Parts: sequence; C-alpha cells; structure tokens
Amino acid sequence: MNGAATIHWFRRDLRTSDHPALEAAAATGGVLGAFVGDPTLLAPAGPTRVAHLAASVRALDASIGGRLVVRVGRPEEVLVGLAGDVGARRVVATADFGPAGRARDERVARHLRARGIDLELLDAPYAVAPGTVRTTAGEPYRVFSAYRRAWAALDRGRAGPACAVDWLDAPGEDPSRLVDLAGSIRPDYFADLPDEPPATTPAGEVAAHAALEAFRARAERYGETRDRPALEGTSRLSPHLKVGAIHPRTVLDAVGGVAGAFVDEVAWREFYADVLYHDPASARAAWRGTARALRVDRDGRARERFVAWARGRTGYPLVDAGMRQLLTEGWMHNRVRMVCASFLVKHLHLDWRWGARWFLWRLVDGDLASNQHGWQWVAGTGTDAAPFFRVFNPVRQAERFDPEGRYVRRHVPELAHLEAPECLRPVGGLLAPGYPAPIVDLEVERREALARHAEARGRR
Ligand SMILES: Cc1cc2nc3c(=O)[nH]c(=O)nc-3n(C[C@H](O)[C@H](O)[C@H](O)COP(=O)(O)OP(=O)(O)OC[C@H]3O[C@@H](n4cnc5c(N)ncnc54)[C@H](O)[C@@H]3O)c2cc1C
Repeated sequence: MNGAATIHWFRRDLRTSDHPALEAAAATGGVLGAFVGDPTLLAPAGPTRVAHLAASVRALDASIGGRLVVRVGRPEEVLVGLAGDVGARRVVATADFGPAGRARDERVARHLRARGIDLELLDAPYAVAPGTVRTTAGEPYRVFSAYRRAWAALDRGRAGPACAVDWLDAPGEDPSRLVDLAGSIRPDYFADLPDEPPATTPAGEVAAHAALEAFRARAERYGETRDRPALEGTSRLSPHLKVGAIHPRTVLDAVGGVAGAFVDEVAWREFYADVLYHDPASARAAWRGTARALRVDRDGRARERFVAWARGRTGYPLVDAGMRQLLTEGWMHNRVRMVCASFLVKHLHLDWRWGARWFLWRLVDGDLASNQHGWQWVAGTGTDAAPFFRVFNPVRQAERFDPEGRYVRRHVPELAHLEAPECLRPVGGLLAPGYPAPIVDLEVERREALARHAEARGRR
C-alpha cells in the first residue's frame, strides 16, 4: 500500500481482529500503531489494572512484530509528534464513552484539528454503543429489563476477521514504563493496605481467545454454575473485555446462542456503560438522589473497619475469602463481590465509594461503569436496586452458594482444616488459631442500617 500514513491510536481496543477502527485506519495506506501512556489517567489507577494493561500492550506489540509505538505524555502532544514523524494527517481510534475518555478525546480532537489532523472515532468497546438504545420517546432507559429488550432487538453486528495492516514504525518506549505511572494518587483511608499487584492474569488477544474457547466448552452449564464461586463457572473474560483484547461482539457470536443468562451479563455491562454515558456524575455520587442522605461513618473506627474488610479480616468467612481473592488474584467472583459490597455498606455503614475505590484499585477488570454501578446497586442508590431492607447475610450466602466451603477454605487458610458448615460461620480463635473474631454483630448492624435508611428517607 502506498497511500498516506494513518495513526491508529490504541486505547481500550488492544487487539487486531474484529476491529472496525483498525480496518478503517488500514484502508488508506500504512498504519502507525500507537499507545499513549497518559499520566493523568494512570495516576489514580490501581497497580493491578495498570500491570494488566502493560502486559496487554506488550502482547499487542508482540503480535504486530514489535511495531507498536508506546510513548508517555499528553496524548495531543504525543500524537502531533508521531504524525510529524510519519507524515500522517489522520488519527483513527475506537470511540471511548467514559467521562474522562470523552473529555480527553474532545481536547485531543481540537488540538489536532488546529494542526490540520483529523481524529476519527469509530465503533465502541461495546456491542451497542452507549447512547444508542433509547425509548420510543428518545430517552435513555433507567431499568435494565427494558434496556435489555430494546438492546436485543438492535443489530449488534457480526464479528469481523483479523485486519491486514501494513504497519509503520517509529521510536517508542518499553510498555513497562506504564507501570511506573500507576497509583500515585492514593486515598489516605487505604492506610497501609498493600499496593503490589497480585499474581498476573494472562494478557493479550491470544489469551482472551483461549479464555473464550475454554468457556465455550462449559457455557451450556453457565446458568447452573455461575453463582458458585468454588467452580470455574463464569468466563473470566472481564479483564480482556476491559482492555479490548477481545470485543463483546466476538464473545456474543461465539457463545450468545448457547447461554441466555450469559448474554444478560454482557448486557449488564452495556447497560451500565449507557447509564454512565448519560449521567457521568453517577461515577461519584448516588445515581438516585433519594439515597444521597444516608449517614455513613468516617471516624477512626470506620477506618479500622475498612482496613479489616480490605484485608479479609472481618471474621465472616465468605467476606474474608472474597476480599483475599481480590488481594491475591486481583479478581473476585460476582456473587462474592455482591456479598462483600453489601457487608461494607450495610454492616459496616461505610461510604460505598470507599469500597468502590478499593475494588477499582485491586481489580484487574476494574471498570468505572460496571464497578460504580455494581456498588450502587448493592447500596440501593443505583438502577434496579433491590429494596434497601434486603440485606445479604454473609453466612447464609456462604451456606447457599459455597455449601461445601471449598471457596472459603481455598482463600482463608486459617479455616482450611474445618469442614462445612463450621468453616462458613464465624469461629472463635480456639477452633481457628489466627482467624479474627467477628468485627460486628450481623443482626445489630442490620437494624442500624435500616434505622439509618429510615432516617434518610425522613430527611428527604
Ligand atoms: C460491587 C461490584 C463491583 C463490580 N465491579 C466490576 C468491575 O470493576 N469491572 C467489571 O468488569 N465488572 C464488575 N462487576 C461485575 C461482575 O462482577 C464482573 O463483571 C464479573 O464477575 C467478571 O467475571 P466473568 O468475566 O467471569 O463474568 P461472566 O459471568 O462470565 O460474565 C461475562 C461478562 O459480562 C459482564 N458482566 C458480568 N456480570 C456483570 C455485572 N453484574 N455488571 C456488569 N457487567 C457484568 C462482564 O464483562 C463479564 O466479563 C462488579 C459487580 C459488583 C457486584
């Protein structure tokens, strides 16, 4: 190809197949593939996610013969520099729909336009782009089930093939530089909680497709196994979807016909991105104003409780198992995410944003839309939220979803010698040396949560 050079600016689309934006970039000539490490976006990101990002960038680089150009700096300046290097007048990227990404893209587009360079934003990290699914009155949906129906009726497109690209080259940096940019903005209530990333998750397009293939073999059983944290019942695709090592279109094409419950979960991801798109403030504040007034604790005892929760030392085995899985694997099973989040909000009376921030810090799949709205769902302030009085009891949840205690014993070694049901319940130090006594009483705190909820409603 001899046409003019184009820059493909990789962001949350770190792959080369089923990639409409990359295909558009490659249609007119040689492509310079660039990844920009933006310090302002990486500073508040936790080390786990950035380590996975760096590994995914490295894998992409390897897949295109080492020709991905990684540079650190403000994207507008880096891109203008690269455009100068290869004589490009066109930058193509997959559109970003998050609040920070949109603001950045508007800024970058202005900056590039002033220098005669076009920024073209195409496709989405979703099967249906946020902002697309609307009611007949043109409004966004506020309830999942209605969104889901309208979403299913839309053409989500089919997965495309791998793109043929004539890659250009320019000098760049090693992707491990990205890791140094992570985590410099750290809230003080994290105290001395660990920062080092957990064991690495396989990264890159090949790993993402391997995870999809492995899941295909068990997808038919997803409905029965997805709520059992001891089993490998779910797809573990979330870290790959986060960085775009695989597109949800590809995933839905491969298994959508087999597992209806699985399609629902992918649709939740799309719904939350849509909700955040229409209401960017919901990343930081209650989506439903009614719940804004809920009184939360912030004193010294609250901070101690937060640290005990984050370290997996609450004395409630399922909560501790989940929080330790987060520490060691950087991932947590969805059922357990709900239980741990509920415990923080309803039994510890802490601000859901404290918990959400810790999750984002540790999760390899940490995603603003899914995380903040997952938390708001639990806290009773989000879309489709269950009534506030429905408080997850972590012991009953353990008995129901981990009846043999395999998940709990796997993650809490102090309980490994106990059989179920003993290992699912708070135990004294005599039975399990080194394991903490429960930090709160479930019934006392459940009543306290309900009282605070009634108080908040009264103040409206
Ligand atoms: C408090 C809380 C915080 C969460 N934080 C995140 C987060 O930061 N990032 C994230 O990707 N998911 C988050 N989730 C959703 C869910 O827990 C994870 O997506 C899921 O556990 C990932 O594992 P999997 O890929 O094996 O899921 P599977 O069950 O195989 O589901 C397939 C895909 O569907 C999507 N999905 C599944 N469940 C949900 C859900 N409830 N909401 C939105 N999307 C979903 C994910 O992209 C997932 O990879 C959170 C849920 C809760 C309750």
